[in-house]
Amino acid sequence: MNPTVQPKASHFINGEYVEDKNGTEIPVIYAASGEQIATVHAATPAIVDMALASAKSAQKTWAAMTGTERGRVLRRAADIMRTRNRELSVLETYDTGKPLSETLYVDATSGADALEYFGGLAASLTGEHIPMGQDWVYTVREPLGLCVGIGAWNYPTQIACWKGAPALACGNAMVFKPSETTPLCALKVAEILFEAGAPAGLYNVVQGMGEVGGALVTDPRVDKVSLTGSVPTGKKVYAAAAADMKHVTMELGGKSPLIIFDDADLENAVGGAILANFYSSGQVCSNGTRVFVQKDIKDKFLARLAERLKGAVIGDPQDEATTFGPMVSKAQMEIALGYVEKGKAEGARLVYGGARLNQPGWFMQPTVFADVRDDMTIAQEEIFGPVMSVLEFDTEEEAIARANDTEFGLAAGVFTSDLTRAHRVIGAMEAGSCFINSYNDAPVEAPFGGVKASGVGRENSKEAIKHFSQVKSVYVRMGDVEAPF
Ligand code: NDP
Repeated sequence: MNPTVQPKASHFINGEYVEDKNGTEIPVIYAASGEQIATVHAATPAIVDMALASAKSAQKTWAAMTGTERGRVLRRAADIMRTRNRELSVLETYDTGKPLSETLYVDATSGADALEYFGGLAASLTGEHIPMGQDWVYTVREPLGLCVGIGAWNYPTQIACWKGAPALACGNAMVFKPSETTPLCALKVAEILFEAGAPAGLYNVVQGMGEVGGALVTDPRVDKVSLTGSVPTGKKVYAAAAADMKHVTMELGGKSPLIIFDDADLENAVGGAILANFYSSGQVCSNGTRVFVQKDIKDKFLARLAERLKGAVIGDPQDEATTFGPMVSKAQMEIALGYVEKGKAEGARLVYGGARLNQPGWFMQPTVFADVRDDMTIAQEEIFGPVMSVLEFDTEEEAIARANDTEFGLAAGVFTSDLTRAHRVIGAMEAGSCFINSYNDAPVEAPFGGVKASGVGRENSKEAIKHFSQVKSVYVRMGDVEAPF
């Protein structure tokens, strides 16, 4: 075991680390070496109950505080996260395998942004006064109560904060279950919130597989479920939550299009395609993995892309010079390599990478296929790995129709120097998070989430407040009540 990453215990409940070794053992494997670096245990029913009960009770205390007081706690937590950024980034790298050159800038920092932003909003969450002649209606924005957060493994710190910060700002409590693949980082988020002054039990973390997630989602004490995960899991969790009419936010997968027109700045377009496919070794939900390139510039685009990919520094993710790390797990690497084989078998042309690296850990090369057709498996299914499909197109109309021809609708991007075309094309995209001459920016100020099968609800921005609160409206009559009898 690695003493810097082994947590004190598996779960964080009611302001302290809690262990129950009766739960199934979950080994934590470092993606860059394949070695076990820590162990946690899945939550037993007793642990799940303890977490929900303590959250239920803490929520009452928390909701009774003023928005200013709640916001102060969240902003203090943001400050602590920023102060400990390096330590948290190193842990994120151990948890996920993502290189420190990324984690130092986008994980704890993005988590801190969410805590700061929603901490700032907390005091402004008020209702409305609606005049009705001499009567009036007033509205009250109330918390939902007890929220469950369930995370994917690609951004464990960020997901724990993106769900926790708006939930807490609105006066809710949260029980968060990280992915079993990356159980370490969320514990730190819980620890920091408690240290910042959140009441014990307000933000609890329990470990476990889908079974634990299922137990949380179906518990009658839970009012809301926010899931980040795949579409199949989303469908199951949404259905389970619907049985009790629970609120949901679903941040699910995608197969997003990136459309590059022949008038685009080539260097920026290639950079955008790299960000859209190879950041975090391609394990990003909003990735633009179907890269539609207009016919006339396709060869130039592929040549420049290949040149720039040679500049990827693949290796030890704890070395800050590394720019491309391993896949999160052996299983995920094998899934991505399986898609590479399917791409070849179905006739796509492999123009870059495609192989596992001959070294310990779950490393595979950044991979590019050209001559990809819309009906090929690699153009239809979410791979969640560093595999880019380049598809050729002729006209704007054709690109729009083909880009939208998918069950997913998380993100979409366009590169062009024609301003009106940029807005026209993005206006036609069936996607929730869109980019013009850019890709994969996710500032806390902007709503994030998908349409179609990619999700329900939005994270970040003021939109997230709507998904973690509800409105009570109160009619106030000043005169007599006129009843018919
Ligand atoms: P999964 O759907 O496999 O799992 C997501 C989470 O749900 C995990 O914590 C998992 O637990 C849990 N879970 C699984 N089954 C159930 C169940 N029946 N009830 C309750 N919880 C359950 O996704 P991955 O972890 O493999 O993450 C990759 C996916 O996440 C991709 O599809 C990606 O696109 C999507 N994603 C979406 C994002 C977005 O914001 N739109 C951002 C990041 C990723 P466990 O894994 O421990 O079994």
